Amino acid sequence: MKQQIALLGSTGSIGRQTLDIIRLHPEQFEAVTLTSNNNWEMLANQAAEFLPDSVVIANKEHYRKLSEAIAHLPVKVYAGEDALCQIVANSNITTVVNALVGYAGLEPTLCAIEAGKKVALANKETLVVAGDLVMKAALDKQVPIVPIDSEHSAIFQCLAGEASAPTRLILTASGGPFLHMTADDIENASVEQALAHPHWTMGQKITIDSATMLNKGFEVIEARWLFGMQPEHIEVAIHPQCVVHSLVEFPDGALKAQLGTPDMRIPIQYALSFPQRLELPYPKFDITQAGNLTFSKPDTDRFPALRIAYESLLRGGNSCCVLNAANEAAVEAFLSRKITFGDIRRTLEHTLDKSIFIARPSLDDYRASNTEARRIAQQFIDSK
Ligand code: NAD
Ligand code: MG
Repeated sequence: MKQQIALLGSTGSIGRQTLDIIRLHPEQFEAVTLTSNNNWEMLANQAAEFLPDSVVIANKEHYRKLSEAIAHLPVKVYAGEDALCQIVANSNITTVVNALVGYAGLEPTLCAIEAGKKVALANKETLVVAGDLVMKAALDKQVPIVPIDSEHSAIFQCLAGEASAPTRLILTASGGPFLHMTADDIENASVEQALAHPHWTMGQKITIDSATMLNKGFEVIEARWLFGMQPEHIEVAIHPQCVVHSLVEFPDGALKAQLGTPDMRIPIQYALSFPQRLELPYPKFDITQAGNLTFSKPDTDRFPALRIAYESLLRGGNSCCVLNAANEAAVEAFLSRKITFGDIRRTLEHTLDKSIFIARPSLDDYRASNTEARRIAQQFIDSK
């Protein structure tokens, strides 16, 4: 049977690459719902090509323009972030691909789980903010959450077929655009420098997170929840060649890794086709051209955000939710040139310091904590 897919965030980097996979395998996958926040023109074009049952434009301002643009198509149009939650529960959907960015991804993930849909998860913020709640809900509902993030897909692939629990997870990191820069140069790096990632072309938010290396910190948190691993057994190795996508250690000391071209379409397709593998008609990786592969310890003096993420994870409670909210505010302010690159870290530290700690947050606590942390972060940013 075809997988009937609700693709949340179809106009983004992961969203468009997911459509590449659906386009390649029309006999396996069908786009039933496509969504965007603001980009109604691209969403209209996608609707014309894929003829989904429905589209959702999260920002209601664009509802009219979108409706008029696709009035001639047999496609229903909905608007508003609430519509995302309603749409994923639709009975004709089997799989939800969450390719939203930021906190906005949390509630749709929870709605998809509640409705018993398989979730292919790119939106790592879902697990950063409320990993404990999300994994518990998935367990209760017996819903699979399959990772799209390349490192977690690599780990997931290494774990397939293993009866023994792993003893260590090693997430590889490219090191981002500032890997070889001095602390002073990083402090005052420009938006253009931060957006120039050496290996991956991604949305702006994750690209800035890669430059601070908070992205890797978020991935440690994501791995903690996805694989039920304690933080002290999750390590990061700088591997600038981006060939090894992550590694798993087993009790006998054996290490398994997954290697290949840095192309997100491989983990996206695997998340959809698992446990099968489908053909992907792109040039295959030539290991003899890989050159030297290097692995080293990250420098948390130059990349303090990675250390802050570990500390937040160890502190637990709502700390990672606060960290995420502060970061969203800081990245937006940096991209609008209101603060320096170094101020991103200061915003994180200030907000974590000033926020109220909640040891066992409920979903409502997470919601309130997210709002409150953004307010604290914004005040700090405005004082700059
Ligand atoms: P992006 O900015 O390119 O796309 C985000 C999508 O979400 C867009 O379609 C946008 O319209 C939609 N969106 C944004 N804010 C929204 C809101 N408030 N309400 C509803 N819709 C909204 O982002 P991306 O790079 O595709 O990343 C998506 C997620 O995948 C992120 O969590 C990111 O960390 C993760 N991820 C991305 C990559 C990558 O290569 N791009 C790799 C690994 C993980
Ligand atoms: Mg990743």
